[in-house]
Amino acid sequence: MSAKIIDGVAIAKSVRAGIRDRAQKLQKETGVTPGLAVIIAGDNPASKVYVRNKVRACEDAGINSQTISFPGDVSEEELIAAVGKLNDDPAIHGILVQLPLPPHISVRHVLEAISVEKDVDGFHLYNVGGLVLGDTVFPPCTPYGVQKILEHEGIDVTGKNVTVVGASNIVGKPMALMLMQKEATVAICHAKTRDLTLYTILADILVVAAGHPNLIVPQMIRSGTVVIDVGINRLPDGSLVGDVDFEGVKEKAAAITPVPGGVGPMTVTMLLDNTVSAAERAAGRA
Ligand code: NAP
Repeated sequence: MSAKIIDGVAIAKSVRAGIRDRAQKLQKETGVTPGLAVIIAGDNPASKVYVRNKVRACEDAGINSQTISFPGDVSEEELIAAVGKLNDDPAIHGILVQLPLPPHISVRHVLEAISVEKDVDGFHLYNVGGLVLGDTVFPPCTPYGVQKILEHEGIDVTGKNVTVVGASNIVGKPMALMLMQKEATVAICHAKTRDLTLYTILADILVVAAGHPNLIVPQMIRSGTVVIDVGINRLPDGSLVGDVDFEGVKEKAAAITPVPGGVGPMTVTMLLDNTVSAAERAAGRA
């Protein structure tokens, strides 16, 4: 059996069309144009590319965006002051701080400074706490994108065994909580998990976000598993791959997301979704 290759680009395109319609409707009915501010500190080339992509995606969706760039030696106080100004700016509905920040800055302090109503990345403690209780305001964009992919593909997670490989604060942990909320039975694995295959072999749905090429090989899954590969790794030859041995695993899985073209396009899409939701809420429309 060869897996269905899930087309994240096509799903993102259709979800973005709906987001654009919502932004236009809001503009027409209330005069409010959704606005996103992105703060970036330092010269990380990958961060610059991510920010450029987000700004371009905003333009296409009818969302105003502004980028505020700081040098790598910016102080924590300056960053927090910039967040504070954006919190008070009624034209800005979403604030995103591009990670990673320079090492001398506490990510937690900066993220906690973002107003909960504008926390479109969903990293504020309040939103993270909401995930535990099942009523978060803004779900973090990458796991939210995975959830949308599963919905779009008609894959119900209720009662399913789902294994999440990776337990980071931005992907693995929120992913596991969101799946639990949908009544999946969830196992979370991380670098110290002793026997990864013990868990991956149980999975009806396997979500992998570890940052290691070829971590998941065909022997580690059952036939018919749905495999969602969140990983993005750049190989020495410059090519991008996920965490899954795509060629091998696709012969055994029921469905699989490719890298690139799977989860990646959905992450930015859900940022747009959260930004328009924030603007709708600010305008009393949600
Ligand atoms: P991260 O903060 O480095 O976390 C990686 C997680 O994977 C950690 O929990 C780590 O365990 C676990 N891990 C590492 N090696 C492992 C192994 N051999 N077996 C099992 N678990 C292992 O990374 P992240 O930010 O979550 O990102 C993960 C991957 O997703 C990266 O490739 C990143 O580029 C990609 N990503 C993609 C998108 C997208 O839009 N597609 C968005 C965000 C991230 P410990 O907790 O024990 O260290």
